[in-house]
Amino acid sequence: MFDKVLIANRGEIALRIQRACREMGISTVAVHSTADENAMHVRLADEAVCIGPPAATESYLNKHAILSAATITGADAIHPGYGFLSENAEFAAMVEEHGFTFIGPSPQHIREMGDKITAKQVVMEAGIPVVPGSSGAVRTAEEAGKIAAEIGYPVIIKATAGGGGRGMRVANSPDELATELQNASREAKSVFGNPDCYLEKYLGHPRHIEIQVLADNHGNAVHLGERDCSLQRRHQKVLEESPSPALNAEQREEIGQVVATAIKKIGYRSAGTIEFLFEDGKFYFIEMNTRLQVEHPITEMVCGIDIVREMIRVSSGAPLDFAQEDIKFQGHSIECRINAENPETFVPCPGKIGEYHAPGGLGIRVDSALYSGYTVPPHYDSMISKLIVHAATRNECLMRLRRALSEYVIEGLDTTIPLHQKLMAEPVFQNGDYDIHWLEKFVGK
Ligand code: ADP
Repeated sequence: MFDKVLIANRGEIALRIQRACREMGISTVAVHSTADENAMHVRLADEAVCIGPPAATESYLNKHAILSAATITGADAIHPGYGFLSENAEFAAMVEEHGFTFIGPSPQHIREMGDKITAKQVVMEAGIPVVPGSSGAVRTAEEAGKIAAEIGYPVIIKATAGGGGRGMRVANSPDELATELQNASREAKSVFGNPDCYLEKYLGHPRHIEIQVLADNHGNAVHLGERDCSLQRRHQKVLEESPSPALNAEQREEIGQVVATAIKKIGYRSAGTIEFLFEDGKFYFIEMNTRLQVEHPITEMVCGIDIVREMIRVSSGAPLDFAQEDIKFQGHSIECRINAENPETFVPCPGKIGEYHAPGGLGIRVDSALYSGYTVPPHYDSMISKLIVHAATRNECLMRLRRALSEYVIEGLDTTIPLHQKLMAEPVFQNGDYDIHWLEKFVGK
């Protein structure tokens, strides 16, 4: 096992990883920008190294600075968290070349899954169902028109190198397709540095359901059930729950098996998530995330497995010490992402926290790096806390969540807590009867 792990991230996820390390007797190294000198992840780490100025490109994305920090502190391994360098194959390879262990999958798997066209091909060959669409990048309007006519309108144009909900456009007709393909390609080039786009059938009322997997270096792979992440705004998840209110036991078992078998076949290692759209009883693969996800805690709450701990264990070479049949799902869990944003306009609202009081009690988990007097810097993602609730049934979970939201005090800036409170009072949400488009209409009301 490792003696020392460097955590190449900030905020709540850096803290989350530190907690797992500490419980395993591993010491931790925090890295931080000059904007994060007083951040909780720095205060609680055993050692901390400043790696650059506030801009992420010069600090949290600065590969050389992070590797230097690992060298001078004598770290054995690097955990990338999510975002930043977590799905950067080049970084994962550099980490290994410098003699550290990358706590994540192999650079080859990150690369394959990072290119959405390759990913679709690889998982399709491993037996996972995909959305009908082009088999590769489409470069001309004529080519796109032909494929769209085959799969039928509306179609969605996606950037091969896309991520974070960016670089996607919907076309309802051949005319729209020609213009939107140009727009999508231009955006893809400027945002991702790669203009390639591909086409998929646009599903009108799907849910977003994803399967968490864990695999080791010894050929073992398991699934940890699903998360329903259909509540999205601008393709960004707002609230997640597990299990999905839309799946029955048979569907859950079946998709879990398909995914675990595919993961084994691909030879994947570490934690990963296979994302699907689910419509009319069918699953359609959209992408695989080769990293820890923001919403991993709800899976931990229902299956009692510490995913970060398992990531650390398997990357040190240990085998998973449980098999699929040992994993038991219990109760229901929901996560609310709380952002420093105006709850109506969603304009980011960084600033200084005044009073701070987190909810507590049975079944409540708060993953956050906030404290009273902390200043939320304007340079990074606006998510400041994750409120995670677990209870025996979905109904009890909703009651508990409502109670926890009413206890949560974050003064000094706007947060999206009122949005979550509005959601709790909404019958469509209470009935679990929503698709991926529902929330946008709801917040627009
Ligand atoms: P990203 O990597 O940018 O997150 P994804 O491929 O995971 O992109 O898609 C993000 C979201 O976009 C999905 O959760 C869904 O809301 C929407 N989406 C993606 N593909 C389709 C599709 N074929 N039809 C309808 N909506 C889609």
